[in-house]
Amino acid sequence: MAVPTGKVYLVGSGPGDPGLLTLRGRELLARADVVLYDYLANPLLMRHAQADAELICLGRHGQAQGRGRIVDQEDIHRQMVAAAQNGKQVVRLKGGDPGVFGRMGEELAALEAAGVAYEIVPGVTAALAASSYSGVPLTHRDHASCVALITGQESRMKSGSKLDMAGLARFPGTLVFYMGVTTAPDWSSELIAHGKPGDTPVAIVRHASLPTQKVLTSTLGELASVLAPGKIRPPAIIVVGEAVVARSTLQWFSSRPLFGRQVLVARPEHQAAELTAQLSELGASVLLQPGISINEPKDWQPVDEAISRFAEYDWLVFSSVNGVNYFLERLLKSGSDLRSLSGIKLASVGPGTTEALAAFHLKADLQPDEYRAEALAEALSGEAEGNRFLLLRASRGREVLAELLRSAGAEVEQVVVYQSSDVIEPAEEVGTAMATGKVDWTLVTSSAIARSLIAMFGEQLHQTRLAAISPITADVLSEAGYSPTVVAEQHTPESLLVAILAAETAG
Ligand code: SAH
Repeated sequence: MAVPTGKVYLVGSGPGDPGLLTLRGRELLARADVVLYDYLANPLLMRHAQADAELICLGRHGQAQGRGRIVDQEDIHRQMVAAAQNGKQVVRLKGGDPGVFGRMGEELAALEAAGVAYEIVPGVTAALAASSYSGVPLTHRDHASCVALITGQESRMKSGSKLDMAGLARFPGTLVFYMGVTTAPDWSSELIAHGKPGDTPVAIVRHASLPTQKVLTSTLGELASVLAPGKIRPPAIIVVGEAVVARSTLQWFSSRPLFGRQVLVARPEHQAAELTAQLSELGASVLLQPGISINEPKDWQPVDEAISRFAEYDWLVFSSVNGVNYFLERLLKSGSDLRSLSGIKLASVGPGTTEALAAFHLKADLQPDEYRAEALAEALSGEAEGNRFLLLRASRGREVLAELLRSAGAEVEQVVVYQSSDVIEPAEEVGTAMATGKVDWTLVTSSAIARSLIAMFGEQLHQTRLAAISPITADVLSEAGYSPTVVAEQHTPESLLVAILAAETAG
């Protein structure tokens, strides 16, 4: 008998910030065959899923967002059950926590009726995220010793409401309303009618933990006008009670320097992680659109041949991180090891490349003070005469390094160790953001990326601020009519961020 594999995991996705998913949730997402995710679960979480997982977005009120189909609650049950009975691992990803206004009861009943095995993984519910991310405590030694989680939807159905408004008005703690934006005029006036003071403090947290988070404070009596139709759209959490008085005014989350800014990183994916992490730390939301794609060279033969003649070279010259990685991995794959480099000197164009060498336990013998080909050639010029240089380069790029070395008397060979080609079409999400002027900054981290961004977005680049990593990159942009707003002082990603922060503080 085989071990049955089909199972449904009801997983809380947390309130929005992708970092708030639990480790267990991530582990399950990473091995799921099918993911049914709520419109409130952040689609960015899908990056944890396998490339071939079936991803189905469940819209609300018939409005599916993004990929996938529109389904009603019965459909959701049927799909979960069918997939699990087919032996699939199914993750049912629900906004916040599955057990808080998440129809968990109904879904479990359906699974149990069908005899499908399940597991439930909790998530950070919106009330708790709204509290943490806005600095509004839910309990307080002086003001509130208990908390009620309440749905605002009930007050719509006045006759059938299960909410005891008189009881809630007397509740000796903090009231937290979910789904309460549109019904606020009803429930706030009922609470007041049942004796809750109109000056009870209120905090409204919209899009808690997301780059679009907004926090407003008010009072129960004012709530109806603060939330007048159209003023604030759901989803929001409304916290009612004296504990709100003890809120922090600092706003740690939304006061971060790039909060609310959308930043496009155009690096190849495997090189974007660090920059993306730094930008997120500063509060930005990051769009990723590789401007170029990096692949193996079409032909390894010249590289293998050069490796077999290592003894002939005095210097290996690396002008990019990709060059280091592709070349050294090839070297190791060829059955050789790092000892074959003994006696050869290594030159690196800049700190990133030097770091990439260090990851292979190799030390660069030379790195220019300025991180560009001209400076590298200049730094090597004393060594040029009579020495043999092997340049590990991209399938395209500037010839200047080889030319300068040759004119300084060096013998120069070049081999292509990686293929670089332009990405023509941006991802849909990125294309839309750019077309509608929603990209606040675009990081242009090389001349090749500058060219590909110009080809990809053209005139639309006037609707974003461009940050260039070096004067050369800046020139490529300017010559095409897209002058960058900032240019990094040192030609490093860190320096680029510093320039952006300076521009942001300058207004
Ligand atoms: N199971 C979810 C709640 C689903 S009900 C949870 O545990 O959080 C939907 C309501 O949740 C919304 O109307 C809103 O009141 C609240 N909500 C969900 N995500 C939110 C967010 N990021 N910010 C504020 N409120 C949110």
